[in-house]
Amino acid sequence: MKIPFLKLEQMHAEIRNEILSAFEKIYDKNIFILGDSVTAFEREFAKYCNVAHCISCGNGLDALSIILQGYDIGEGDEIIVPSNTYIATSLAVSYVGAKVVLVEPDIKTFNIDVNKIEAAITSRTKAVIAVHLYGRPAETDKIKLLCEKYNLKLIEDAAQAHGAIYGGKKAGNLGDAAGFSFYPGKNLGALGDGGAILTNDDILAKKVQAIRNYGSTIKYYNEYKGVNSRLDEIQAGFLSIKLKYLDKWNFDRQKTAKLYLEGINNNKIILPYVDSVQESIWHVFPIRTEFRDDLQSYLKTNGIGTLIHYPVPIHLQKAYKDLGYKPGDFKVAEDISNTELSLPLWYGMNKNEINYIIDTLNKW
Ligand SMILES: *Cc1c(COP(=O)(O)O)cnc(C)c1O
Repeated sequence: MKIPFLKLEQMHAEIRNEILSAFEKIYDKNIFILGDSVTAFEREFAKYCNVAHCISCGNGLDALSIILQGYDIGEGDEIIVPSNTYIATSLAVSYVGAKVVLVEPDIKTFNIDVNKIEAAITSRTKAVIAVHLYGRPAETDKIKLLCEKYNLKLIEDAAQAHGAIYGGKKAGNLGDAAGFSFYPGKNLGALGDGGAILTNDDILAKKVQAIRNYGSTIKYYNEYKGVNSRLDEIQAGFLSIKLKYLDKWNFDRQKTAKLYLEGINNNKIILPYVDSVQESIWHVFPIRTEFRDDLQSYLKTNGIGTLIHYPVPIHLQKAYKDLGYKPGDFKVAEDISNTELSLPLWYGMNKNEINYIIDTLNKW
């Protein structure tokens, strides 16, 4: 059997006609930037997350950097970021000229270790970016208390958490502002790049709406040194259709994850931790093993595609050599980089495929 790490075919076959007719409508209308489809999707996604404002933009990286710019964060400021996140989180900080301050994750949850945040706060700290890694919400209730104590903004990187729930609230509604990505492989993905900012902060909402469009609210009058980062009309049209199915697709992933959790039984493999406070939408199903590279090639030989999220932690990336870190400086992040392996998990996996993966893992 051959099972790729990610397969969008079934999802896209089921909505093919709807997508094509949305394309046709927008094509015939001949308005491609900041039209009715964008406004409609923004309204729908804000409602889905129960947040006052959704401002769409070009991608998830821009969503985060525009939030930072909207809060006037820049040179001289420090932003706390988990040491094991995808590099886009820290690139957003670097982009606005602020300093990336890495804090180790909890090895059990893979999310930022709340007990290690306070020690990293200085008089220059302006915000904490909590990443809901692999689709599992970070402990934003505790992080929020710290942020209130030190007057910091709590920004969610929700790029892997569309529809995830923490304490009854959706990701995107857990901090001051949230950045989402609609990269095609995310749980809610466009047919190209896309992103969005969610916030209940009326002032920030107005500002980021201008920043994503050259810093302008009235055409040719510019209030801020903004950027060009807009969601295309056609992508917004596609996303409105996909949003209707997001809960169904997430539920299907959760069912598959449950089968993995119940079925995988191999003492060389550590399964992801689950509890009742947070509802992961399993953007990724992360297992860990000391013999990760061996397991990855064994699975490959057996036709099963996997990925490592992520093979090189931020502090050891060439791009961040200016931070001056060396191996051993962020041991938890390094441990995850050395042991993590993500199993195939996509909408429409069938029982045979799931059982084959479980059996193959149990025979290893
Ligand atoms: C995908 C991702 C991003 C960036 O999103 P893009 O749309 O690819 O720019 C940021 N943070 C995390 C955690 C991501 O997974």
